[in-house]
Amino acid sequence: MDYFKKLSNLNVHLIAVSKTKPNEDILALYERGQRIFGENRVQEIVVKYNDLPKDIKWHFIGHLQSKKTKEIAPFVSMIHSIDSFKLLGVVDKEAAKHDRTIDVLLQIKIAREDSKYGFEYDELLEAWNPEQYKNLSFRGVMGMATFTDEEEVIRNEFRNLSHFRDSIKARHFKDYESFDQLSMGMSGDYKIAIEEGSTMIRIGSLLFGER
Ligand SMILES: *Cc1c(COP(=O)(O)O)cnc(C)c1O
Repeated sequence: MDYFKKLSNLNVHLIAVSKTKPNEDILALYERGQRIFGENRVQEIVVKYNDLPKDIKWHFIGHLQSKKTKEIAPFVSMIHSIDSFKLLGVVDKEAAKHDRTIDVLLQIKIAREDSKYGFEYDELLEAWNPEQYKNLSFRGVMGMATFTDEEEVIRNEFRNLSHFRDSIKARHFKDYESFDQLSMGMSGDYKIAIEEGSTMIRIGSLLFGER
């Protein structure tokens, strides 16, 4: 199965998750037209950014430690994994130093298991002011479903995330037309995610093979 052909023809943004994979694998997809690649480690994304073509859009998708933000702030195109107000402040400050605006998604805990990272949905409905972050562009939300083969569990979690996006938008981002993205779906659950309204799928193993 030519998954690249299949996945790049769906009506969603395809993030090719290249973590642990060598440059030659990334270039093979680049030659076929892929420009968005996702990484979850600061060290690795920095090395790949330096080595690979400059028109690649690098998306950071893993937990980001505040103190490492400065290493990716000069070039990162989108951060999917903003999981605290503290991190929002740090990314904004680092983006300002480089006179850049960075696209961000708010990562929300939706899985049954106690995932370590992500906002609680309620936390985001509290009073906070997105306007204070001058160098961030809020684009939407991201979430990861429970790792299970129970399709209904996954579907419910994705459906919740989609509703969360709508209510967070209504609460804080009414005037932001660009707060419209829903980053959900990986190799094992992207079909369900798309049925539930995903706009960005993050796919590693189907494109690059098992890690
Ligand atoms: C690794 C990873 C993916 C891709 O996972 P696959 O199952 O290989 O498609 C997606 N999102 C995040 C946050 C990841 O860490």
